[in-house]
Amino acid sequence: MRSTSTDSIPSALIPESLERPGNDPIFALLAEANAREAAGEDILNATLGALAGEDGKLSILPTVTAALRELPPAEFAAYAPIAGLPEFLDGVRTDLFGDHAVRDQAVAVATPGGTGALYASLVNFLGRGESLLTTSYYWEPYRILADHCGRGVQTFRSFDEHGRLDLADFEKQLTAQLAQQERALVLLNTPCHNPTGYSLDDQEWSGVADVIRSAARTKPVTLVLDHAYAKFAGSNTADWRPHIAGIAESAQVLVAWTASKSFTLYGGRVGAAVAIHSDEAQRKRLFNALSYSSRGTWSNGNRAVQRAIGNILADPALRENCETERAVLVQGLTARVERFKQLAAEAGLRHPRYEGGFFVCVFSDDPKVAAAKMREAGVFVVPIQGALRVALCSTPVDSIPRLIKALKDAGCR
Ligand code: PLP
Repeated sequence: MRSTSTDSIPSALIPESLERPGNDPIFALLAEANAREAAGEDILNATLGALAGEDGKLSILPTVTAALRELPPAEFAAYAPIAGLPEFLDGVRTDLFGDHAVRDQAVAVATPGGTGALYASLVNFLGRGESLLTTSYYWEPYRILADHCGRGVQTFRSFDEHGRLDLADFEKQLTAQLAQQERALVLLNTPCHNPTGYSLDDQEWSGVADVIRSAARTKPVTLVLDHAYAKFAGSNTADWRPHIAGIAESAQVLVAWTASKSFTLYGGRVGAAVAIHSDEAQRKRLFNALSYSSRGTWSNGNRAVQRAIGNILADPALRENCETERAVLVQGLTARVERFKQLAAEAGLRHPRYEGGFFVCVFSDDPKVAAAKMREAGVFVVPIQGALRVALCSTPVDSIPRLIKALKDAGCR
């Protein structure tokens, strides 16, 4: 007789899937922080990438809530078109480019968040076995996304000896990569890079443009701009738009847009892959390729959220309301950034140039040991290679002195 015990059935998982790591390590840290807090400890949790107010509660834009609430039930029940609601896609182009001429050269397809846009970029602009090229500090899911679709990740050094984007290494690695593969996909997360907090300045952007322009003369090059945190940039941060428009004249440019942070709709799972091309026939091709990826993966996106965001972006008054509400959040975050920079300098902590955004990292010789020491003191940060990632987005301004002290006590210099 066949056993009914599931233990006796050998795993049917394919070999690559057999030993997948469990919970995302950041969520595992969060679980520990929450459990200790529930047990009565005073915990400072600077791990998770959602913006919270000084009271620790998730920040939410009221205009977005109102736009969702006023939707009729059918908007929640019905499917969205595979490529996304046209009004939403139009709104995304406006949100990204305003009335800049490049808006009319952009074609957008809805995706589940920026993550979906990154996935759609990888499967359409890199062949199997080819690797994307990104900075040596990068958001860990890039590797998971690439691995999951049979692509790889290669990196260039994030920072040179002056703490600036290492353009020389970027050029070197891009050239080396193009000698190995038929095309390249450069993935940059700026402004407000996760995990370092770094934002490219105009000079660095010009350098990136020169390198890409020259590489694109040899083989096709795609630049994907991960725009996840861009709306939280400091007021002096360089405008990426003119640089992107220039690069789009010689290389394929894509922007991974998301409502997660900028419209405080992390769970809404709405984003867009936005491709720029001056030629209409090519735009149609891009649209079809990206739509095909939607059909072949998530099928279509969240209609209600697309509708709500589309309604906001189509209405100048609602758009302005959102901008005003977001500006309050940015102001609160900027206060934390300034406090952090001041106290970090006094404590002699080293961190990349930081003008704004959800995260910053503090360099450390032994991040795992340092993070464990900090946890003993009830302070949670994420250890990454060579640094500790600190989520100022979830750290109230009054907790920053405790955070700095914990970093210092853990041996960061
Ligand atoms: N890119 C970076 C660097 C991120 O940190 C995130 C989210 O944490 C994303 C993209 C995409 O997020 P979502 O899929 O929620 O839009």
